[in-house]
Amino acid sequence: MHRVTILGATGSIGESTLDVVRRHPGRYSVHALSAHRQVDKLAAQCLEFRPERAVMGSAEAARELEGRLRAAGLKTVVEWGESALESIAADGPTDAVMAAIVGAAGLRPSLAAARAGKRVLLANKEALVMSGAIFMDAVREHRATLLPIDSEHNAIFQCLPADDPRCQGGVSRVLLTASGGPFRTRDPHTLHDVTPDQACAHPNWSMGRKISVDSATMMNKGLEVIEAHWLFGAPADRIEVLIHPQSIVHSMVAYTDGSVLAQLGNPDMRTPIAYGLAYPERIDSGVAPLDLVKAGSLVFEHPDFERFPCLALAFDALRAEGVAPAVLNAANEVAVEAFLQGAIRFTDIAHVVARVLELPAEGDAASLEGVLAADAGARRQAHKLLGAQPA
Ligand code: NAD
Ligand code: MG
Repeated sequence: MHRVTILGATGSIGESTLDVVRRHPGRYSVHALSAHRQVDKLAAQCLEFRPERAVMGSAEAARELEGRLRAAGLKTVVEWGESALESIAADGPTDAVMAAIVGAAGLRPSLAAARAGKRVLLANKEALVMSGAIFMDAVREHRATLLPIDSEHNAIFQCLPADDPRCQGGVSRVLLTASGGPFRTRDPHTLHDVTPDQACAHPNWSMGRKISVDSATMMNKGLEVIEAHWLFGAPADRIEVLIHPQSIVHSMVAYTDGSVLAQLGNPDMRTPIAYGLAYPERIDSGVAPLDLVKAGSLVFEHPDFERFPCLALAFDALRAEGVAPAVLNAANEVAVEAFLQGAIRFTDIAHVVARVLELPAEGDAASLEGVLAADAGARRQAHKLLGAQPA
């Protein structure tokens, strides 16, 4: 029996993970679950999966959850806050940790799982973007098993030689595919008018709102370029982004002999999640078999960096090194939240990120404290810019 902890259990990835776990009751049990605010959802998950520990984002939410669980006769220990998240991520009885908290909030708990030598199923790409060197060092030093859950990185991982996952022998390029999001063909002059709901209406994937907006700006692909750099040791000029509107080819690896290996499947995160849970074995994920005839033509195009300035900003940040990726990520989180709240326009997201990247950064990339200082400084700068922005 493998014991699984899910950080961010109530999110899109968290729910898909529980769906895969549910299909294999003799193979996986749930050790701990976390949620930020959604007491109802976490209570229902606890009643079904009976974890030993549960963590909420506030004392109030934890009290409410505890009341519900006790009334139902459950003994689950309920805690709250960041140190409790780190504690369940590193807990002795846990074998695998699904790191599926969205944004920088996931960094410390994801890192705690790596430092405890766990099997880390990493969906929280922001953790790697912010502190890639520190994260990868922790994985090596503590002999953690890092399995990428982001569909593109999971595809690349599957296409690399099993004994050589860090892009060594014979790899010439990593080809990251991108759907292009909901605005791939929309007249760029009308982009300033799009609403949060339009931005979140992804054509192929069903995801949380933050990553959905990131997909619409293609900042998501930018974050994934940085993520690929750290996961596979690939420099920026060996990572290529290709628009592939069908989202059937999840990414590819090109070798020096001309071979290109691809991983294909329906766009459903339960495939990479099942892969991460069972690796190196394969289990049923609940995903429908791929019907290539029904999928029709598979199309590939170069991305338009003018339509998607966030993608260019992410490549710039990767090349700038240091804390630039952490600054990019923090400014983006603030700007996306402001857009979702209706405070700024869609096109302002890239402006805010670009302006913050131009300012002198705080902190340094050598330590977690330095990275968190860069993150906090960039958030302050972004909020300052937003204060000056017309609503
Ligand atoms: P989501 O918004 O659906 O869920 C986020 C989860 O994180 C929720 O359980 C929420 O309670 C928790 N959370 C939010 N803020 C928190 C905070 N401050 N502290 C603690 N917990 C907090 O997001 P999602 O779409 O499931 O994405 C989760 C992560 O996985 C993101 O990093 C995203 O980039 C990555 N990812 C998602 C997909 C996808 O298909 N959804 C694909 C690839 C990668
Ligand atoms: Mg992805």
